[in-house]
Amino acid sequence: MKQVKIDVSLLAVTPDSEKLIEEAGRTCYLSFDKSGTNENFITNAIKRGHLSIIEHASASFRIKGASRAFTHQLVRHRVASFSQQSQRYVDENNFNYAVPESIQNNPEALELYTSFMQQAQSTYSQLRNMKILKEDARFILPNALESEIVFTANFRELRHFFDIRLEKKAQWEIRIVAFKMLQILQHEAPQVFGDYISDQENFTAQSKYNN
Ligand SMILES: Cc1cc2nc3c(=O)[nH]c(=O)nc-3n(C[C@H](O)[C@H](O)[C@H](O)COP(=O)(O)OP(=O)(O)OC[C@H]3O[C@@H](n4cnc5c(N)ncnc54)[C@H](O)[C@@H]3O)c2cc1C
Repeated sequence: MKQVKIDVSLLAVTPDSEKLIEEAGRTCYLSFDKSGTNENFITNAIKRGHLSIIEHASASFRIKGASRAFTHQLVRHRVASFSQQSQRYVDENNFNYAVPESIQNNPEALELYTSFMQQAQSTYSQLRNMKILKEDARFILPNALESEIVFTANFRELRHFFDIRLEKKAQWEIRIVAFKMLQILQHEAPQVFGDYISDQENFTAQSKYNN
């Protein structure tokens, strides 16, 4: 059992995503002869709200070291696909867990928290030793438990995800994950994601095109 740190890695992204998006977008105007001549083609489309063209590209990420509390929020995004570590099939006898900064920085709270994690782990093990199935023993597991998940979404959904999950009022873990994804995508598809202005200190970002 150990504390974990959030790790986000890119598993796949549509190859030549911006070329594909421009190709799709130019179909609307039959302006293929102008392909590649206007470096603002995609950003102009996004500014105008012509967002369906960016649905043609998508990205997949593996997220490790975040809590079940986080994944519960992530899977609320319906226009996305998920594959998550199962508590029915994976034994959680030696589970890892996330620790919020507010608890990490408070020695008394940290002691209480750690002791609860140990107690949860011990109770889980005892239930398993009594031949209780994983799917039932898991009922005592805390929200803090690390859960690995793969998340796939198209670029339009990813922009929506960034718009609502990179706001200060969003929860800190999902902000950290969204921030790491945004940094990766700003490198992979700068015309689609380059308009987000980041605040590294608070893990927040805002599109230049949104109010
Ligand atoms: C700060 C914050 C606090 C939150 N607090 C709570 C809370 O207390 N309780 C709670 O239950 N949830 C809460 N949520 C989750 C929130 O209500 C959404 O479920 C979650 O953010 C997914 O967003 P979404 O529905 O826009 O996105 P997606 O499911 O990814 O959908 C993308 C977009 O597609 C469209 N769409 C998708 N499905 C439909 C549909 N069936 N009908 C019409 N349009 C659709 C919408 O335009 C939607 O914005 C919170 C979210 C945030 C950011």
